[in-house]
Parts: sequence; structure tokens; C-alpha cells
Amino acid sequence: MRAPTIIPPDCAVRRSTTTHHLLSDASLPAYRQQMRQAVDAVTEAIAAADRPFSGVVPADLRPLVESIDLDAPLDSMPDALQEVRELYLRDAVYFHSPRYAAHLNCPVAIPAVVAEAVLSAVNSSLDTWDQSAGATLIEQRLVRWTAARIGFGAGADGVFTSGGSLSNLQGLLMARNNAVEAKGLVGLASLPEKLAPLRIFASTSAHFTVEKSAGLLGLGADAVVQVPADPHRRMRIDALEAALAAHADAGLVPMAVVATAGTTDYGSVDPLAGIAALCHRYGAWLHVDAAYGGGLLVSHRHRALLDGIEHADSVTVDYHKTFFQPVSSSAVIVRDATMLRHVTLHADYLNPEGGENPNQVDKSLQTTRRFDALKLWLTLRTIGADGIGDMLDDVIDLARATAEELRQDPSFELAAPVQLSTVVFRLLPTGWDDDTRVDRLNARIRKSLFAAGDAVIAGTTLHGRSYLKFTFLNPATTLEDVRAILAAIRSAADPMILEGGPRG
Ligand SMILES: *Cc1c(COP(=O)(O)O)cnc(C)c1O
Repeated sequence: MRAPTIIPPDCAVRRSTTTHHLLSDASLPAYRQQMRQAVDAVTEAIAAADRPFSGVVPADLRPLVESIDLDAPLDSMPDALQEVRELYLRDAVYFHSPRYAAHLNCPVAIPAVVAEAVLSAVNSSLDTWDQSAGATLIEQRLVRWTAARIGFGAGADGVFTSGGSLSNLQGLLMARNNAVEAKGLVGLASLPEKLAPLRIFASTSAHFTVEKSAGLLGLGADAVVQVPADPHRRMRIDALEAALAAHADAGLVPMAVVATAGTTDYGSVDPLAGIAALCHRYGAWLHVDAAYGGGLLVSHRHRALLDGIEHADSVTVDYHKTFFQPVSSSAVIVRDATMLRHVTLHADYLNPEGGENPNQVDKSLQTTRRFDALKLWLTLRTIGADGIGDMLDDVIDLARATAEELRQDPSFELAAPVQLSTVVFRLLPTGWDDDTRVDRLNARIRKSLFAAGDAVIAGTTLHGRSYLKFTFLNPATTLEDVRAILAAIRSAADPMILEGGPRG
């Protein structure tokens, strides 16, 4: 039973007109109306977008944005939304377009977008129970659900974060403190001295946040030992073993190995089980960066790529990549919940020690924090985990079919076999043996496609050479769409090839 209210409902002494723009009783009809207007505006913009990008350049758009007088508000929401259409929606990059195949951005699950409206309106903050109530329990439940999918036992825990960058940082922070505690480094004078012998091992294809984290954690980016990758762009086990042995012989401490389950560039998955065995042998923390490959946890046909992930100490999962969630939505999951103590601090006003309610801030680097978990919750409760897995399997199939298509075409060269949904390749016209010319051709193809807006693709380099890249995360993209993009690539290249190759 709810306690009766003790505050009379008409106790407000003064209401300024601006409170009518805040979510409170007086503004509820306006809220309802404005939400509908916003949904209509964005729906129309999405329906009108017949290609992934308009090709707009900053010089076109900047004057429009600059011309707005931010100190002179418009009279109505429809006017303001019309302005947003012109400044943003008309020229946005649309990830739901079947011809967007550039970065790790996904078209978003509708239930997750609905959840955005709910969580922003209520505005819960996940730092403490007394700012969130059920939201805290929902997040905890999803952390346990993810941990169970990983194969962790009952002792696991974790927390939602803003993204893989923060999840990786927190994983490595726990690894660092664990190493300092566990490896007999306590006798040394100060923290910097304790940190000096620590090393992190990651493949040459690992995400740059590993080095950034090493810097932030006081180790310096050169504490990251780069382990060579095989032709599939997976960490070489023999090379890792040699590096661990050499560093141990030199008296250095293997603080952590970062294995990547889905490298950003190639979608390659490091051999997790073999890496886990070496971590066990050398007493190194295993952090699995599954920011990209995390969706394999619900895949029907490709879950085996993650075999061995259950031996990790910490795992990064970006739901805003392969779970089709809007940014931001990520988590760091730990096998041993007690490791989260490495980020626990108590403040009397917020989360006093010995409090009886669950306070997620005890486990997080963030304080005020969005209820991003509601998006995944509503997605699992409607589309379901199997539905997400189906969508991911579809894009993996598409990537493999695309690779097959490229293999059959002598004018293209595939950089590496496809594992997830990424295809790295380049156009290599017959008879072109000057690498610099080939580089310029491929770089210019990408630019020309982006400028036209008909297709958006990415680029990268391999061994110093320029390549093109497809990252597929749209289950609505078909092989026909891919063929259309390949045709666009060829026609962008034709004039350059005819003029004897780009010369500068
Ligand atoms: C995307 C990505 C990250 C960074 O995650 P954000 O959510 O962008 O912060 C880290 N590691 C890998 C492998 C990634 O693909």
C-alpha cells in the first residue's frame, strides 16, 4: 500500500511560464502533442531519404547553423522542428539506408527508440537506487542476462557504460589494480613505480582505446605490446606466447591481454580459448573486447566464434553495434563481481558505506548515468534475443556473399577472409602495378561516392596501402544493393582509369 500524500496538491505558490515547457502537470498536453510532432518529423525525414547521404559539405551547412540567433527562441515546436529539418534531418547520414555500409553504425530497433522516449521523459539516473528504483533492477537483470550468455557463473556482475571506449578503460583499470594488488608490487614506493613494469598485450588490429586506456591509467601507451596478427587479422597465439615469455624473462609483469572479438577493421575474432590458456599460465587478466562481436552471443549459427569467452576476466559488449540499439548502450561484464570494488568510492550524500539499497554508482566510472538498459529490455521483450540473432546472422551471410562476389571479379582484391560483417577490399585494375596509383584510385573512389551520397562506404589501410571497406549492419541490405554499390565504385573509377590513373 502506498503511504497517503502529506503535501496538499495546490501548495505551489508561483508558476513561471517556463515551467510549462518542463515535464510537469501543466505541460502534459503540450508534451503529448510535441512528441507526436517530433515522431512525425523524423518519420517523414526517414521516409524521404532515398539515399544514405545528401553529399552536403561543411561549407554549405555551416552558414545555416551559424545564422541561427540562439538568443531568440522560435514561437512554436513545429517551427523549431522545421528548422531542425533544414539544419540536420535533410542532410543527415542515414544508417537505415541499404547503401550505407561504412562504419559500425546500425539501423535501430524500433522498441529501443520507443524506450529512448520513455527513459528520457522519466530521466532516471542509474547511479543510485533513490534516483532510479526499478531501473536499477532492470539494468542488473540485463547485466546478469549478458553474463549468462557469456557463460559466466553466478559470481559475475558488471555495469552499463556509454560505449566500448569506457568499457575497455574500466576493464583495464580493474586489471591494473588487480595486478598491483596481486603481484607483490605493494612494497614499491609510489603508484607510478608500481605501474612501471606492467604490460598489456593486444594484437596489431586491436582498438586504439587499448592504448588510450594505457595512457589514462598511467602506464603510457608504450606499455601496450603489439602482438602480430595472422593473415585473417587474428592475434597469433605463437607470437603472444613468445611475447609473454620474453617479457616475463625481462622481469616485466603481464598485467592483461586484450583479445578482440570482432576487430573494428576486419571483424576478425582472436582465438579466445588459446589466449585464455596463455593468460592462465602467465597470470594475466583476460579482457575480451567484444564491442563489435558481442552480438554473436545471440547468434544462431556463429556463436562458436566466441568459444573461450567464458574464460575472460572482463568483457566489453556494445549493444549499440550488433544488438541494433541506439547510441549509447554498452556494458562491461566481469567474471568476478568483487573486481568492481576497484571503482568503488563512497560519498556520504550519495552512496554511504553500508547502505542497504543497490547503488550502481559503486560499480561505475560514471555518476549520473542514462537508463540505456531499458532499450535492450524493450527489444528483448518484443523482438527477442532470437530476433536479434537472426538479424546479425543475416548481415554476416551478406558479408560472406559479398566476399564471394569480389573473389569472382578479377578487378577486385580481397584483403582478408570475412569472419563477421566487414569486407575489406580494393579495386585493382588489370595491369596497374604502381601501388601509389592504386592507393590514390581507391581513396578517390571513396571520396567521390561520399560526395554523391548514393552510397557510403569506409576505407582503411593494410600494410600501408589504401583499401575500401564495407561494414554491414543492416539486415535489409541485399546482395542486389551490394552489386549496386560495386557498380557505383566502378563508374566512379572509370574516368580515373581512362585518364591513365590519378596522378595527383
Ligand atoms: C567500436 C569499438 C570500440 C569503441 O567503442 P565505442 O562504443 O565507440 O566507444 C572498442 N573496441 C572495438 C573492437 C570497437 O569496434
